[in-house]
Amino acid sequence: MNIRLFNTMSRKMEDFQPLTPGHVGFYSCGPTVYHYTHIGNLRSFVLADLLKRMFLENGYEVFNVMNITDVGHLTSDDDDSGEDKMEKGAARENKSVWDVAKFYTDEFLRDSADLNLLEPSARPRATEYIQQQIDLVQKLVDLGYTYEIPGDGIYYDTSKFAAYGALTGGALGGNRAGARVEFNDAKRNPTDFALWKFSPTDKKRQMEWASPWGVGFPGWHIECSAMSMALLGAHFDIHTGGVDLSRVHHANEIAQSEPITGAPWVKYWVHSEFLVDKSGEKMSKSSGEFLTLSVLKNRGYDPMAYRYMLLMGHYQSQLAFSWEGLDAAANGYKNLVRRVADIIDTKASNAIDSAVFDEWHDKILGAVSDNLKTAEALVAVQELLKSPSVDADTKYALVEFIDRLLGLRLIPAAQKLKELEAADVPADILALANARAAAKAARDWARADELRAQIDAAGWSVVDTKDGAKIIKKA
Ligand code: AMP
Ligand code: ZN
Repeated sequence: MNIRLFNTMSRKMEDFQPLTPGHVGFYSCGPTVYHYTHIGNLRSFVLADLLKRMFLENGYEVFNVMNITDVGHLTSDDDDSGEDKMEKGAARENKSVWDVAKFYTDEFLRDSADLNLLEPSARPRATEYIQQQIDLVQKLVDLGYTYEIPGDGIYYDTSKFAAYGALTGGALGGNRAGARVEFNDAKRNPTDFALWKFSPTDKKRQMEWASPWGVGFPGWHIECSAMSMALLGAHFDIHTGGVDLSRVHHANEIAQSEPITGAPWVKYWVHSEFLVDKSGEKMSKSSGEFLTLSVLKNRGYDPMAYRYMLLMGHYQSQLAFSWEGLDAAANGYKNLVRRVADIIDTKASNAIDSAVFDEWHDKILGAVSDNLKTAEALVAVQELLKSPSVDADTKYALVEFIDRLLGLRLIPAAQKLKELEAADVPADILALANARAAAKAARDWARADELRAQIDAAGWSVVDTKDGAKIIKKA
């Protein structure tokens, strides 16, 4: 099947041609684990997951990498200054920086599993690749791309790299020259960035390493160049991340890599747009006001409802989060699950109509292969499930494929729904569940959570479905 992707580098839709036939390698910038991953961050990881699923269903062998940033990401992404976010997180929580990294990595991995994100082929941590980062900086030093700011670090001189900022339309696309009142005026160019930072002399850092230039820690950008080259080779097919990364982080990754690997280092750059609030403000960790998947779950939403909400949009468009929107997505998802449960009830044999199967398979995979048009694919899924002319067995086989492609767990959810419907619930538990439904309707989340806990303690769990809350005996 023809695969098309929008390439940020060319600003065009392009037919995907792999570097090695039948194989795709891609790298996705992962989370910085100084705080919870919020549902906006998760949007960029869902993009990576959809790409992987789409390539797998097209018969590709996929090798994909998503890093964990556990050192070097400074509080000002824009001009690469400020404190290390990790050390700041450790001070905030009065924990060791390693404990902070472990805690938020585990939280992130749980969210990833809840959202049904496929495991990447490799999940390197920046602190595991310090030597590779030092080696890369050394190569740049040897090639004459760097200079030292005494007491600060080794910097990359962006004026040495003619194509700097090409990803966002030239040098000014990068760290805006002169636009900031405060930038490190020891830098030769405002767009220059740190490759290696020296440890401060007045306080002890928890994470630091010896290097040919002095004790310190790597800059944020170098980690992605080093880990991607180590795991994917000097050239690879696709690099992904959120749109905010294209202007500085990815511009810097390219500037560090291409003097060593030759251009183009990466063939296709794919960026996902922001999750924003009603006023259009980007959800961000640093503002401290953000929603996590756990919050959604505690309010009774199935993580698949959020996944469905993302899939109903397009990764290149901003998506405004609202509870009403999430309710609508939850209902849309439940309707699909209801229909799948009915298919399970009516399917008879395992014989499928292969011509009909191919027609719907190609329609749905075709939409996702065309620059990840997931909303179009979901419209086709709805049509398919409603269609009276497709028999239940063929539908079921198609839903198995749809679950692999879109990762919506329709079949397990439908099976669970059927179990719930079969359960015999005692009257006192039913009363608690009704009170919880009333609290939810009144958006009294605290009360709803309290009632859920009581139901839980009595050995039952409550699951929200299209027909209201269902109660199931815990195994
Ligand atoms: P960070 O953990 O801050 O390093 O960010 C991880 C990923 O989340 C990056 O690819 C960011 O571009 C992306 N990201 C950050 N905020 C948002 C948002 N509000 N919506 C979508 N993606 C985001
Ligand atoms: Zn990165």
